[in-house]
Amino acid sequence: MGPNLRRDDGLAVAVTNMTPPELAAICTPHPLPLYRRPSRPGRRPPSPGRSFTPLVFQGNMPMARRRQIYEGKAKILYEGPEPGTLIQYFKDDATAFNAQKKGTINGKGVLNNRISEHVFTLLDHIGVPTHFIRRLNMREQLIRQVEIVPIEVVVRNVAAGSLSKRLGIEEGTKLPRTIIEYYYKDDALGDPMISDEHIAAFGWASQEEMHDIADLAIRVNDFLSGLFGGVGIRLVDFKLEFGRIWDNDWSRIILADEISPDGCRLWDMTSNEKLDKDRFRQDLGGEVEAYQEVARRLGLLPEGGDTAVLDLDSHRKRRGK
Ligand code: C5P
Repeated sequence: MGPNLRRDDGLAVAVTNMTPPELAAICTPHPLPLYRRPSRPGRRPPSPGRSFTPLVFQGNMPMARRRQIYEGKAKILYEGPEPGTLIQYFKDDATAFNAQKKGTINGKGVLNNRISEHVFTLLDHIGVPTHFIRRLNMREQLIRQVEIVPIEVVVRNVAAGSLSKRLGIEEGTKLPRTIIEYYYKDDALGDPMISDEHIAAFGWASQEEMHDIADLAIRVNDFLSGLFGGVGIRLVDFKLEFGRIWDNDWSRIILADEISPDGCRLWDMTSNEKLDKDRFRQDLGGEVEAYQEVARRLGLLPEGGDTAVLDLDSHRKRRGK
């Protein structure tokens, strides 16, 4: 067994056909420790409970009544229906090279919402704590509010992208072992690569938190490699983000953001065809078809059902309303 193999390994193919109780039975959750932190004013996430009247959640809150918390390149976060929750909206906008290249991939948000829901649900079943609560509709999911750790965690199995460029390693070369890299989340700086030393020195995360983050990243990699491998897709690399959830002065690290072809390199195992955002980055075309293919192989689209990504939002936009 290689150093990264866990008991999750190899189960992913089988688990896709298992019910949640069956999954829970074979994968004992690994409860993560709580960290006690000194109170640091200003570091705690704002309590949403203070700023709005709690309401009974009916499913689709009218857009006009929602308070937007944050707009990123591919997602928008709205205030959630209960304290400590947010609504994550998946846009069709695509950016690359630190937003120097911009575009739209029609239907991408719908597919990413569905793929990310599927992956986060399976990860939850094997005991990986995540921010995902449930999908609300075609483009939105209810999530737990977290304090995002300002680090992008990249896990690599095969050389590609910036690793190939930086070190001159031919794209497609299998790496001798899985590599984890850290990048500081700062658009203005272009998300520079950082080491554990920077993270410790600048206090972006504690040693214990980094231990949990690395451990979770390896477990996610083991599981996803099996999940995608089972449907003929090679997981080349991917990016994860983590957040803290707070309970008074105690915090815990959980997986946040999304897992979708936007933040993963996914290659067809036979043809090496790219089924991810590199199609947009490299002007290969066929972006939505590639994302659909990933969803289809994961069993999330009906066979041959290419209309399944249509939703009201894009329908209205096409009609100019
Ligand atoms: O560009 P690079 O090779 O460093 O990307 C590694 C992986 O991380 C790729 O799967 C890419 O999609 C993902 N990534 C991301 N968001 C970033 C940077 C990289 O999702 N800001």
